[in-house]
Amino acid sequence: MFDALADRLESAWKSLRGQDKISETNIQDALREVRRALLEADVNLQVVKTFIEEVRQRALGAEVVAGVRPDQQFIKIVYDELVAVMGESNIPLAQASQAPTVILMAGLQGAGKTTATAKLALHLRKENRTTLLVATDIYRPAAIDQLLTLGKQINVPVFELGTEVNPVEIARQGIAKGRELGVDTVIVDTAGRLQIDADMMAELGDIKKAVTPDEVLLVVDAMTGQEAANLTQAFHEQIGITGAILTKMDGDTRGGAALSVRQISGQPIKFIGVGEKVEALQPFYPDRLASRILGMGDVLTLVEKAQEEVDLADAENMTRKILEAQFDFNDFLKQTRLLKNMGSLGGIMKLIPGMGKISNEQLEQGESQLKRAESMINSMTREERQNPQLLASSPSRKKRVAQGSGHQLEDVAKLVSDFQRMRSMMQQMGQGGMPGMPGLGGL
Ligand code: GDP
Repeated sequence: MFDALADRLESAWKSLRGQDKISETNIQDALREVRRALLEADVNLQVVKTFIEEVRQRALGAEVVAGVRPDQQFIKIVYDELVAVMGESNIPLAQASQAPTVILMAGLQGAGKTTATAKLALHLRKENRTTLLVATDIYRPAAIDQLLTLGKQINVPVFELGTEVNPVEIARQGIAKGRELGVDTVIVDTAGRLQIDADMMAELGDIKKAVTPDEVLLVVDAMTGQEAANLTQAFHEQIGITGAILTKMDGDTRGGAALSVRQISGQPIKFIGVGEKVEALQPFYPDRLASRILGMGDVLTLVEKAQEEVDLADAENMTRKILEAQFDFNDFLKQTRLLKNMGSLGGIMKLIPGMGKISNEQLEQGESQLKRAESMINSMTREERQNPQLLASSPSRKKRVAQGSGHQLEDVAKLVSDFQRMRSMMQQMGQGGMPGMPGLGGL
C-alpha cells in the first residue's frame, strides 16, 4: 500500500542528497515534493499545509548529526512529523469501569462497518472480553442478516428486533440485553447511507444519547482518499467520535485518509482493516504506517545508530582525507568495521531510502566482497595500507598479499585498482565534480 506516495517522496530525498546542510534554499525542492506527494495521496489541503509548515520549522532548526546525510536527517524529520500527525502511539479501546463497555459504530454504507463490528468482537475475545453485537440497520434487512451470519461464524451473540422497531429502541434494549447476559462489551452496528445525510446523522445522534457509548468509532474506507477528510469532519462535528477504524488498507490505497482523520478530528485511528475475513483487523501503529508511507524500514534506527557510532572529529578527518585523496586502506577498514557495528550491510541498506530495491543476492555479493577485501587488507603491511601505490607498482607485493590471505593474484590486483579508482571518484564527488570527468581527479 501507499507505493505512489513512497515513490513521490523518493525524488524529494534526491534533491537533498549531497548537500552538507539543511537550509531554507535546499529544503524548498524537498518540501515541494512532500507537499505534492501528500496532495496526490489525497490528503486534505489544510492538513498538508500544517504538515509542511511543521516539517519546515523542524528541519531548519535541526542539527545535522555527524555521519548522517542531510537528506537522511530530513527524512527523519518528515517521518517524525508523520508519526506525530497520525498519533504518537497505539491507543487501546476504552473500557468502562462498569460492564458493559458500549461501542457505537458509525460510517457510510459500504465502508466496512458491519464487517468491522464482527472483527472487533473477535479481537476482544483474544483479550478475553465477551461481546454482544446489536443490529440497528432496519432499512436494510440484508445488513441484519449479514451481522447474524458473522455472529454465527465467530460464535458471538447478535441482538436484533427485525425491521419494525425504532433503531434507538433496539440499541437501548441491546444494552439491557448485554447487561443481562453479563457480557463485557456491547457493539452497536448502525445504519449507513451512501453519503452524509441529515436523517442518518440525527438517528445516530439519538442512539448516542440513548446508550452513552464509551467509544464512537468512525469506520472509514481508506480507499476514499480526500473524502475521508470531509467525512471525518462531518461525523466529528455532528456526533463526536472517539476514534476511527480505517478499512480496506489491504487494497491499492494511498496514505491520505490516515493523515486526514487524525489531523481533522484529533482522535486516534485505533485499528486498520486489512481484508474481508473476520481475522483481518490489526491495531494501528502510526510509526509503522509512517515508515510504510516513506517506503523504508526504519530511518529512526539508522539515525540513532549513526549517532552512537560516529564521532564528529573522526568524520571530519575522513572527509579531509577523501578530499585530498589520502583515504587509504586503513580508513577503508575502519569504515567497514563501522558498517559492521551498525549491523549487517543488508540491514543498513534497507534503512536507506531508495536502497530497498536491492536484491538479497546483490547484498550477499556486497557482503562477501567486503569480507574478501578485509582479509586481503589484513595481509598488507602498514606502509602498503597507507600507500596503495606501493602495491599497484609491485607484483611481488601483490603476490605476497595474495598468498597471505589465500586469494589469487588477480583478486589483489583488482582490489588495488578498484580502490584507487574509488578513491579518485570519491575525491571528485567530494569536490562537487561528476565522477568520470577528466581533469578533476587527484590521481
Ligand atoms: P457496511 O455497509 O459499512 O456495513 O460495510 P460491510 O461491512 O458490509 O463491507 C462492505 C464490503 O467491504 C464487503 O464486501 C466487505 O467484505 C468489504 N470489506 C470490509 N472491510 C474490508 C477490508 O478491510 N478489506 C477489504 N479488502 N474488504 C473489506
